[in-house]
Amino acid sequence: MRKQEIIVVGGNAAGPSAAAKAKRENPSANVKLFEAGPYISTGTCELPYLFSGVIDDYKKLVFFSPEEFYEEKKVSVYTNHFVESINNREKKIFVVNRNDNSKIDIPYDKLILTTGSKAKIPKNLIGIKNLFTLKNVSDFLSIKKYLDSNNVRNIIILGAGYIGIETAENLRAMNYNVILVEKAELPMPSSEKEISSLVKDRIEKEDIELHLQFIDMKFNIRDEKIYSVNLDGRLIDTCMIISSIGVEPNSQLAISSNLAVGKFKGIKVDGKLRTSDTNIYAAGDCIEIKNAVTNQHDYIPLATFAHTQGHIAGSNAAGGNQFYDAVVKNVAVKIFDNVLVSVGVSSKQANQSGFHTKSVDAVIPNLVKVMPGSSNTYGKIIYEQGTNRILGAEFFGKSEVIGYGDLISALISKKENIDFLEKINYNYTPPNSPFINILSVLGRKAKK
Ligand SMILES: Cc1cc2nc3c(=O)[nH]c(=O)nc-3n(C[C@H](O)[C@H](O)[C@H](O)COP(=O)(O)OP(=O)(O)OC[C@H]3O[C@@H](n4cnc5c(N)ncnc54)[C@H](O)[C@@H]3O)c2cc1C
Repeated sequence: MRKQEIIVVGGNAAGPSAAAKAKRENPSANVKLFEAGPYISTGTCELPYLFSGVIDDYKKLVFFSPEEFYEEKKVSVYTNHFVESINNREKKIFVVNRNDNSKIDIPYDKLILTTGSKAKIPKNLIGIKNLFTLKNVSDFLSIKKYLDSNNVRNIIILGAGYIGIETAENLRAMNYNVILVEKAELPMPSSEKEISSLVKDRIEKEDIELHLQFIDMKFNIRDEKIYSVNLDGRLIDTCMIISSIGVEPNSQLAISSNLAVGKFKGIKVDGKLRTSDTNIYAAGDCIEIKNAVTNQHDYIPLATFAHTQGHIAGSNAAGGNQFYDAVVKNVAVKIFDNVLVSVGVSSKQANQSGFHTKSVDAVIPNLVKVMPGSSNTYGKIIYEQGTNRILGAEFFGKSEVIGYGDLISALISKKENIDFLEKINYNYTPPNSPFINILSVLGRKAKK
């Protein structure tokens, strides 16, 4: 019998997960993975920590070579192979081998698109030589090379979302002058205002210049390099710019193959992660998913989601029958010695989705005050007026807030209401947990 041909396009988080699972699901299938860049299966979330040396070698973030992946997973990997188009009718992909520019076409029975996302850059800066993004290992190496071969002092980072802040922190640790520029009134602009204000205070305690709410930004360019930026009339010299103004789905290949995309331009998929073509599946940052709180399509590019989706798409493409449920967003970001956790939806997103919301917030010490290292935790819960159903929460404190985020994420999935928080039996040990848990305080406050 002819072997099933399964092809995966894209080899970072979702792709290798899809390919390995497809091969496990149907061991007799030929599974091939094509990746446009030189690496597969890399740690993207860890990239900022390479600048400060917290992770001392980028090679530690390349989890598999193509040979190792074949050895362990029995998937054939083709790096530096860009898939430029798909012929859905004949079920073929057209690939450019970037090593020698040769072109090949390859037939498939099932195709899995895991083409991920693209880092956005301001449109007027396309082609600028000292403008960088931090999206993959190759980007890190380009930035590192520039830092090492130029006498860099000032670095402007555009965008104070989580990637901008993590990058700023790790470059500042290496004594660069970091200028973080954000057009919103506060950093982490999609967070609750109270949390964003705490983030602002925390960043300002470090030696990082934070420029918020700028009205006018002009780039002074010579020889295709930005040498200074005019920010609301203030001239700032810069040696390089890192753009971290967000990512967007890399869905061009899908669009050119007439696959349906949604309002965020992410590929539309059904509960089995099948696209509008039943022979093509998709997973990771290139797709839109259903938000469990709003029940609407959303774009939430996260490594955790990409990995799980890859697994499900891989299984289904190879004959499995797995479903991908609606998701609860659950994001944690380290901001110097603090952690911000954001779960579910923000008040703004809840209101935009038609909910009538209420919220409670509280600040309490994370440990009883007599314990060394006790510091304040801020927490806010957003819930639906009337039903009291929890819709979202944010916390800013020490690393214990990560656990609060996971607990609230579970409660949101179960559609629990805020009164339940008071009924939970929380643990207490003086060096590690508070005598009265902030979640209990928030539950009690909401009841009042
Ligand atoms: C600096 C940084 C920090 C992050 N931190 C976190 C975090 O702390 N927690 C978290 O959950 N998420 C984090 N993320 C997000 C996370 O990295 C992404 O959600 C994840 O990488 C998505 O994986 P993916 O495989 O879907 O897409 P991508 O990582 O974008 O990979 C897609 C791959 O497809 C390849 N490709 C695209 N088109 C083609 C084509 N036509 N032919 C062949 N190959 C193609 C690309 O070269 C790329 O390698 C972070 C992201 C960044 C940039």
